[in-house]
Amino acid sequence: MGKGISLNKEVSRGYTMLEAINEAKRCLNCKVPQCKKGCPIGNDIPDWIHELSKGNPGNAMEIIHAKSNLPAICGRVCAHERQCEGHCVLGKKGEHINIGKLERFIADFDGDMGLIGETLPQKTRGRVAVIGSGPAGLTIAGDLSRQGFAVEIFEMEPEAGGVLRFGIPEYRLPKDVVRREIEKIERLGVSIHCNQTAGEDFTIDDLFSRGFDAIFMGTGTGKPKMLDIPGNDLEGVRMAIYFLRRVSLFNEGSIGREEVMVNEGDRVFVIGCGNTAMDAARTALRLGAASVDVVYHRTINEMAALRAEYDEAVEEGVRFNWRSSIVEIHDEGGRLSEVVVETKPEAVEGDASDQQTQPTRRTLPADKVIMAVGSVPASRIVSTTTGIDVDDRGYVLTREYPYGMTTRKGVFAGGDVANRQATVVHAMQDAKRVAEGIAQYVDAIKLMESINRKPETNTDDENKQE
Ligand code: SF4
Repeated sequence: MGKGISLNKEVSRGYTMLEAINEAKRCLNCKVPQCKKGCPIGNDIPDWIHELSKGNPGNAMEIIHAKSNLPAICGRVCAHERQCEGHCVLGKKGEHINIGKLERFIADFDGDMGLIGETLPQKTRGRVAVIGSGPAGLTIAGDLSRQGFAVEIFEMEPEAGGVLRFGIPEYRLPKDVVRREIEKIERLGVSIHCNQTAGEDFTIDDLFSRGFDAIFMGTGTGKPKMLDIPGNDLEGVRMAIYFLRRVSLFNEGSIGREEVMVNEGDRVFVIGCGNTAMDAARTALRLGAASVDVVYHRTINEMAALRAEYDEAVEEGVRFNWRSSIVEIHDEGGRLSEVVVETKPEAVEGDASDQQTQPTRRTLPADKVIMAVGSVPASRIVSTTTGIDVDDRGYVLTREYPYGMTTRKGVFAGGDVANRQATVVHAMQDAKRVAEGIAQYVDAIKLMESINRKPETNTDDENKQE
């Protein structure tokens, strides 16, 4: 497709077994491992690296599984540079251990070879419904299933995965990898019901009446924010998450190429500079865009995107416009034709003149504008039930004990929908705590139920004695 970059080929090459073992052997197996401190889910990194260095990927996988349900995904899309790898002591003077690539290697090897067979408990502790099958929902399902809960996931799309399937492009996270991780979770005994939209096909009240003891809302932030720019309603303006979703559907063969908005030769502008903006920009190039300009109102040091993502985007040809905003979008006969970009000058110390503060304006030819400026929760669940309070931006309010419970008893929320940090691993970190909260809550209500049943039994016994 565009510029000789494949739309779907994974950009990062994985390790061979020999490369992985050699890399693992470089690890110092530190007594106080900084890498582990940098991992939001406290992955026991040196322990599994040590097992791998001895040639035991099965043992390594068992250690990883104790903390993570999605290692093949984390190994690819986590912000390693800010987390485990950014904390590795070897990085201070030389090259950090490539922890992400090692995790990916072990998880892929396990996916191919089926290294471990887990002994699972009977599902007798209670029934939990999970709405949404993104990273938070899958983590809750995996953790609770391993602890003896019967878990069912309700997913609105025809296939599970949420943001992992639609929000992250194939070249960063192949969908086969996502499918394989989800199949592993299903093998734990989790059932997944697709094409089930909360608020349309079922409500929270329905789920309770079907006998679920607790319900988890892991529905993320599906409603993109739109900037109030003149011309934002033109045909050629799209939200990044809708654009990426269409590309995923095209990749799967569900829609035609003509339904993907970016065409060969298009001049594309992307507003925003987080990882979704990088994904949209790099995907537009892969679709054959003649040029892709990222427009961001702050500086490179303030961008939310990972440095590695930015570097790769630059290498592929994406241009960056710092301290800049699109202030108008124009059309010619209803067709998007140009954008007006306003750029603030860099501050010069000691110069308080007007010249320094006046932005410059450029009118540039354009065919498409993609907005990647964040998203907020869609309100479908909350608006079709009672008792779940949200803040003024629509994020679900939750409490500390039991962790993650909303203002409605037995209904929990976590990950992005509760306004907690938005990366895959942070959604997982939050979900792990919510899983603990759900387990505590369900155990408590079961205990109360059994206590409340006891007097009847005692009375019977007493009657018998009389
Ligand atoms: Fe190994 Fe680096 Fe972690 Fe030390 S900090 S245990 S060297 S990965």
